[in-house]
Amino acid sequence: IDNLAVHYPIGGTFRGPRRVLKAVDGIALTVAPGECLGLVGESGCGKSTLAMTIMGLVPPTHGRIRIADQEISAAKKADHMHLARTVQMVFQDPYASLNPRQTVRRTLADPLRLHGIGNKTEVEHRVADIMAKVGLRPEQADRYPHEFSGGQRQRIGIARALILRPRLVLCDEPVSALDVSIRAQIINLLLELKDDLGLSYVMISHDLGVVEHVSDRVAVMYLGRIVERGGWREIFEDPRHPYTRALIAAIPDAFRRRAVAGQKARGEIPSALAPPPGCHFHTRCPLAADQCRSDVPLLEPVAPGHLAACHFRDRATSLHGELVEP
Ligand code: SF4
Ligand code: MG
Repeated sequence: IDNLAVHYPIGGTFRGPRRVLKAVDGIALTVAPGECLGLVGESGCGKSTLAMTIMGLVPPTHGRIRIADQEISAAKKADHMHLARTVQMVFQDPYASLNPRQTVRRTLADPLRLHGIGNKTEVEHRVADIMAKVGLRPEQADRYPHEFSGGQRQRIGIARALILRPRLVLCDEPVSALDVSIRAQIINLLLELKDDLGLSYVMISHDLGVVEHVSDRVAVMYLGRIVERGGWREIFEDPRHPYTRALIAAIPDAFRRRAVAGQKARGEIPSALAPPPGCHFHTRCPLAADQCRSDVPLLEPVAPGHLAACHFRDRATSLHGELVEP
């Protein structure tokens, strides 16, 4: 993903000027084969828009997306069939994302039919195979979504995403609608499938605890921009952006394996329609200085492969040392 932006025009009637919502505002990212990239941020930061753009469902305002050899950002309608065989998505809400009138068998077989893959026997075989892989029993194939628990429905959602054998799977809050007691099962299933099938993931979540558990690399988004990205170790052991530190400080203690000094961010995320000037985070940042209110901090390296967009990225550790939570 190179210099990607997705801007939505809003309004523009006689009542007021046309405004622009910069849902994604100049993002660069890569995901290597077999890698899981964690994409973190509060709701409204642009994570889902980014996912929809990678899926080819939302056209970018500018910038490029390439997956394997396919240029997604320039994809025409005809390319979307091919794209669906490369990228798939696991949705947050397994209740809303399954057709209540279709059996599991039909839900899983439909994409194969649509893509003209296999004869009747092969379709049956692939449906049975993917059901076994996600931990569903063969006799469950003729049941309807309402006959399943939330966790089982998400297994169906995962099977549907994988039946076309994509290379990249975008998981958009895959466990946040599920009961806490079954989240770990689903996360572990996703990890097993990634290794078995050689998939790449983008794991989108507002929950840094989930991302910590699954990601090889992490990107942190705030109001349409990436404010920090790096390897798992850099992000969780030496985070440089105050927002990343605030997110880590908010992980429940039981899941914290190491202490990172940080303060929870104050207040709410501002509207993406009126992002604060300079550093978007300055209205909530405990370290904000005058420079932060006027100058946009660029995403710059703090170490090889580790970048942060903060004017104080090099001083962040000592500055944060004074902000230890009790
Ligand atoms: Fe905080 Fe300033 Fe860094 Fe933005 S640039 S995160 S306001 S210290
Ligand atoms: Mg979302």
